[in-house]
Amino acid sequence: MTKFKIVTYGCQINEYESEQFREDLLYLGLKETDFVEDADVVVFNSCAVREKSQEKLMSEVGYVRSLEKRKSKKAFSIVTGCVATVEERRIKRIGKDSVLLVLKGSDSLEERRKDVISKVSELLQDASQGEVPGKSAGAVSFVPIIYGCNNFCTYCIVPITKGRERSCPKEQIISEVERLVDSGVKEITLLGQNINHYGRDLGVENGFTDILESVDKIKGIERLRFLTAHPEDFDNEIVKRLGNLKHLENHFHLPVQSGSDRILELMKRGYTREYYIDLVNEIRKYFKNASFTTDIIVGFPTESEEDFLLTESLVKEIGFDKVFTAAYSIRPNTPASRMEQVEDAVKNERLNRLLAVENAISTEKNTSYIGGTVEVLVENIDSSKAYGRIPEDRLVIVENASNIATGDIIHVEVISADAFHLRGVISGER
Ligand code: SAH
Ligand code: SF4
Repeated sequence: MTKFKIVTYGCQINEYESEQFREDLLYLGLKETDFVEDADVVVFNSCAVREKSQEKLMSEVGYVRSLEKRKSKKAFSIVTGCVATVEERRIKRIGKDSVLLVLKGSDSLEERRKDVISKVSELLQDASQGEVPGKSAGAVSFVPIIYGCNNFCTYCIVPITKGRERSCPKEQIISEVERLVDSGVKEITLLGQNINHYGRDLGVENGFTDILESVDKIKGIERLRFLTAHPEDFDNEIVKRLGNLKHLENHFHLPVQSGSDRILELMKRGYTREYYIDLVNEIRKYFKNASFTTDIIVGFPTESEEDFLLTESLVKEIGFDKVFTAAYSIRPNTPASRMEQVEDAVKNERLNRLLAVENAISTEKNTSYIGGTVEVLVENIDSSKAYGRIPEDRLVIVENASNIATGDIIHVEVISADAFHLRGVISGER
């Protein structure tokens, strides 16, 4: 039987797309394996945001090709996602005839799914139409509502690799969410690289708040989230409308990237430190104890120690619940690649300093939950333990989890915590 493995890098949109490819391959009758070495077809959904993940992809493509020599087993790769958009020739040079398809991440998912289905069907000799095994609907699901980005932050390759903004029709989004909720999904996260721009390319005003309001009203939905919002695109009216939603969770991922106005300007982010702090405070008016997470780039070109200290002080001032920190990585054909670069050693040293600050804040925030009760949506169960999240998006491990099921919303008494999660026992069901 022909086996496949899917390897996903990068963002939630890639995760979502990979799940669609997975269902198609299962439907064609292929079997999923956990190991690249076992697979006949490996689908790589790649990320080009940083050089490291791009190079990892290249070496994996080379590895698939080498299986023929190493294991006397011919395997094929299909490469899509952001690296496929910009590095088709290099992928083919490295993978040679082991590369079955390179599909640009900027092309529509439907087109790419069709290409994968037709190419893999050609490959199959023992093709028997399979069935997607009765994978019970999970408790949480992602729904992309807009692809691409028009922003062109000076460090970022996404507008090049994913192309211009393309919003999905509203009816399509609503029926997808209804279908998911009917099949048992409790929490929906709407996705987009720049989700606040939803609807602009369709000529719709206030598309972002409108779609949230419509999804919020769908019967059966328990929790609603969105990713990723650009801080620049909020105003008090939008925040107020978000505050009226019934199911929007108490967590906001708002990538700030830097705490220095000089660097924010060079990045072309379109906001200042003060604006960002005001925005967080405005959101806090409507969402008491909301948790805030962010992305930060350290060592952006020309970043001085003073600039870095401003970022560090902003992290402390906001008290981010989690910071996704990355050292600046040069991306070809972006304006920042032509600016004066910061040395790697300096970048790494700043990265470590920021991680230590972040770790201390996360630990302090998490331990403040000890002794209290939190509401957990159960996402996974493994023997007697359950795993889920609270509205503020913290991961909780529940110890005495017999008699509960995926999708249950339970009350958990927190007994311990570290920087990464809370641990507790069931204290009663809703
Ligand atoms: N659309 C989102 C982010 C998408 S990219 C936003 O506007 O915030 C995800 C994250 O990757 C970014 O937030 C940024 O922190 C990081 N990133 C993007 N380009 C990068 C680069 N050249 N080097 C290091 N990190 C980068
Ligand atoms: Fe990249 Fe900026 Fe677009 Fe985010 S908003 S994807 S960081 S260009």
